[in-house]
Amino acid sequence: MIFENVTKCHLKSKNCVFLQSNIEVMLDFAITDKTHDESRQGEALILRPAGDKAARKLYIESYGCAMNFSDSEIVASILSEQGFETTGDFNQADVIFINTCSIRENAEQRVRNRLREFTIAKVKNPGLVVGVLGCMAERLKAKFLEEEKLVDVVVGPDAYRDLPNLIGKVDEGQKAVNVLLSREETYADISPVRLNSNGINAFVSIMRGCDNMCSFCVVPFTRGRERSREPLSIVKECTELFNQGYREVTLLGQNVDSYKWKGGEEASTESDQPGEVVNFANLLAMVAQVDPELRVRFSTSHPKDITDEVLYTMKKYDNICNYIHLPIQSGNSRVLELMNRTYDREWYINRIDAIRKIIPDCGISTDVITGFCTETEEEHQDTLSMMDYVQYDYAYMFMYSERPGTLAAKRYADDIPEAVKSQRLKEVVAKQREHSYTRLQAQLGKVQRVLIEGFSKKSDKDYCGRNDQNAMVVFPVNENYKPGQYVNVLVERTTTATLIGVVI
Ligand code: SF4
Repeated sequence: MIFENVTKCHLKSKNCVFLQSNIEVMLDFAITDKTHDESRQGEALILRPAGDKAARKLYIESYGCAMNFSDSEIVASILSEQGFETTGDFNQADVIFINTCSIRENAEQRVRNRLREFTIAKVKNPGLVVGVLGCMAERLKAKFLEEEKLVDVVVGPDAYRDLPNLIGKVDEGQKAVNVLLSREETYADISPVRLNSNGINAFVSIMRGCDNMCSFCVVPFTRGRERSREPLSIVKECTELFNQGYREVTLLGQNVDSYKWKGGEEASTESDQPGEVVNFANLLAMVAQVDPELRVRFSTSHPKDITDEVLYTMKKYDNICNYIHLPIQSGNSRVLELMNRTYDREWYINRIDAIRKIIPDCGISTDVITGFCTETEEEHQDTLSMMDYVQYDYAYMFMYSERPGTLAAKRYADDIPEAVKSQRLKEVVAKQREHSYTRLQAQLGKVQRVLIEGFSKKSDKDYCGRNDQNAMVVFPVNENYKPGQYVNVLVERTTTATLIGVVI
């Protein structure tokens, strides 16, 4: 697959890959993380119609990271309680929502372009409500209404419970905005709808917001303070998913390692007594115990927070996948300090060494930013040498792109010429291609336990699924197995991004 330039969306999650026209690079190894899926950008969420002709129709499409797609499911759930049905055709809709990403200018431009396409629908149906949700809504707030006359309602990520009320205001002829950020909202009690999924993998939000202030990142401003979701509601959701036939959950948060639930006044169950603390390692163990046949993944880890306790928990439970996305961003300590990442090169190496020691066969992926403010050639070389040290399985590689309102935009000049950023990106990409290939080659002749996700994209004569380390495995359909089951696959060859084998 050819991408022409890349950037990221901060849920790695929060990882987006976008296209620009100034550079062509092969990055097919970079899209295997399911937390961001370029092919899902702009996807409309469709629920099973209830068949009620009087029901109002909701059209909702999503951009950006996995958290946004997960939030759209929460929005659909809230509105279905109000009698809404979803539609995949915005021309049939009474309400159109776009759930937006704000990580790069071109992500925002994409949303603005999409809004233009709704103009005729609005002319045909003056009662149509057009709303903008998510990070761009939070960033621009009421300004959005001034800039885009078509828009009736602007709603930030913590205000979705208010949607029925806001739609009511628009019905009465007003414009409506709610971009209040919350210190408590986790939507813990709302069961997201899952009807667009393959019925096998599901994302489960375990926390919202971020308290880190990485200087390049908009997340602290668009998604607010970090808060963790009550653990038993997470276990309940995972149990229900398993009972419905799902076999893999990915626990989502901007920084899952800082998950912490403190039981207190708000504790709602007997086992969640006041004073009891559940950290991320504890939560992982709780979810792993839902059933040994339920695979557990998580995203994203932060190098400053990932503990040996988490690693030993992964080692202890076979169904916690041996795969960690651990963004490095830069291999140079001075640049890391400017990025406000709160770890240095040595600390990161220490965490990698711990992973390799405790879980020797763990897959590791990362994010890299090239050309951050003041980055020298020597400092760029530190990033390349770090990549050599770790030998990442995958990487999400980005040229630095300044975003309004971030600490970096306020404090530092975006002073690395585009051509230099681009050249450094090419070098990083070339390095990663080598490493991805080497890592895949190391699997040749080995047997992988694969959860079948469905037919491969290229042929319905082949199944595809992922191994423990998150690599995609393709193999001929075997009539004894079907999607949702585990199979053992002997790897016979590889492409640049995929393991190819046969069921044994
Ligand atoms: Fe990730 Fe840092 Fe952004 Fe938080 S502030 S989402 S840790 S990049």
